[in-house]
Amino acid sequence: MNINWYPGHMKKTRNSIKKNLSLVDLVYEVIDARIPYSSQNPDINTIIGNKPRLIILNKSDLADKKANLLWEEYFKSKGIKAVSVDSLNKKGIDNIVKLSYKLTEDKRIALKKKGIKNKPIRVMILGIPNVGKSTLINSLSNRKGAKVGNKPGVTKANQWIKIKGGLELLDTPGILWPRFEDKHVGLNLAFTGAIKDELLDTITLSMELIERLNEISNSYIENRYNIITKDKTPYDIMMEIGKKRGCIIKGGKIDFEKVSHIIIDEFREGFIGRITLELPKNLR
Ligand code: GDP
Repeated sequence: MNINWYPGHMKKTRNSIKKNLSLVDLVYEVIDARIPYSSQNPDINTIIGNKPRLIILNKSDLADKKANLLWEEYFKSKGIKAVSVDSLNKKGIDNIVKLSYKLTEDKRIALKKKGIKNKPIRVMILGIPNVGKSTLINSLSNRKGAKVGNKPGVTKANQWIKIKGGLELLDTPGILWPRFEDKHVGLNLAFTGAIKDELLDTITLSMELIERLNEISNSYIENRYNIITKDKTPYDIMMEIGKKRGCIIKGGKIDFEKVSHIIIDEFREGFIGRITLELPKNLR
């Protein structure tokens, strides 16, 4: 899902999200556990205001286990609860319900005092494209495959889906814009497939990915492709992977395009390992 954002578009989105926010008691902010900083909307704090929020570190199955805990701790230190989830395989979903219950305790007590019983606690999901908002909605609601409205600015009657714990979830997530500020963020979004690969051609993107992975640990590429990477350039590494995987074009040359797709796809699918690309300690 790719959206080209422009100022008018962002304003419209912000307004429609504000409207929906007035209907809910709690927000699930979905981010990608592999790139928690890069997959966060830069204006999230002002958009949400003081609405209770739960950060969902989704795709945690693709991210490093220890890093997931570090990020949970980091957000906790900022006063925001965060939970690691794998929406695709429905792991961590019960924790979401439990924490939602906790986060809306004040509201429940207030309602009880007023004599209002059985009023559902309402929730909406927010996040940039591709972090897994639709998948999470499906997991929470036990719905299968139904793709929810994904175009920002498209108005649609709100539907409330009953989920566990007396919660009701808005069936349409708020789709936010990503950070645009630097190349680092742009690359992270491209590596994980959150934005179109057009930022760079795939060969350059895969060379950047090899460099990044080797910065984190040489063992990822070495173990996956059974090669030695020490003192080798990303170009050399791609040559070797191409030879191993039979990516050869006419004249015996390496098909770099094919190699780059192998590396990028295998990274995205988690075959190269559970890898987190940014840690809280590196935040500027
Ligand atoms: P949205 O644009 O935020 O609604 O994202 P989608 O729900 O469409 O998910 C984007 C892609 O990520 C899809 O291919 C999903 O199958 C995949 N995905 C979503 N959640 C998870 C998860 O927790 N783990 C893994 N491995 N993949 C996920």
